[in-house]
Amino acid sequence: MRKLKAGEKLVLATHNAGKYRENADLLAPYGLEVLSAGDLGLPEPEETGATYTENAVLKARAACEATGLAAIADDSGLDVPALGGQPGIYTARWAGPERDFMLAMERVQQELGEATDRRGFFVCNLSVVWPDGETVSFEGRLEGTLVWPPRGDRGFGFDPMFQPKGFDVTFAEMDPEKKHAMSHRALAFAQLSKALLDAA
Ligand code: IMP
Repeated sequence: MRKLKAGEKLVLATHNAGKYRENADLLAPYGLEVLSAGDLGLPEPEETGATYTENAVLKARAACEATGLAAIADDSGLDVPALGGQPGIYTARWAGPERDFMLAMERVQQELGEATDRRGFFVCNLSVVWPDGETVSFEGRLEGTLVWPPRGDRGFGFDPMFQPKGFDVTFAEMDPEKKHAMSHRALAFAQLSKALLDAA
């Protein structure tokens, strides 16, 4: 498999500032020049895929085609077994057009009701697309408990209600470096870096 090399320009195909920051931090040690689709003013493609992988690939492909550069996209979400896997690939949509994650967390809590199974799984798919069409995908999945009320003000999205298994703090209460080292994104990134990156 080809590698991403130090000095190479790469687009991070996301308009989500939280996801950009976390992925850019993860890529920082590898000496790549990382551009953001949001900063480049690229349009945000509609997520019409049926899986995290399909959505990540379509976002990466759109950014790659628009720039002529290799692109990485992150499609992620929260799978809740007691809700039949919802919100899943529709996680961002549960926050409504205003991207109000308090609203989205309230909806999860409301739909869970008295459910005793409060497990949630954060899933992250990272896909890379090169200009010649070569495509590769990696997926990370992390179990946690969905707590109520939400706690903490760090991170983004559902972090205040997600307490990773084995911890007594939520992602939003945790030191960001600690979250970055163990998150679903970190698990996907570990596979990506093993396959595609050499330390700079
Ligand atoms: P999408 O990948 O753009 O469809 O959006 C995924 C959504 O999942 C985000 O908007 C967040 O709400 C949620 N999400 C993904 N990763 C995280 C995370 O690390 N912390 C909290 N929420 C996340």
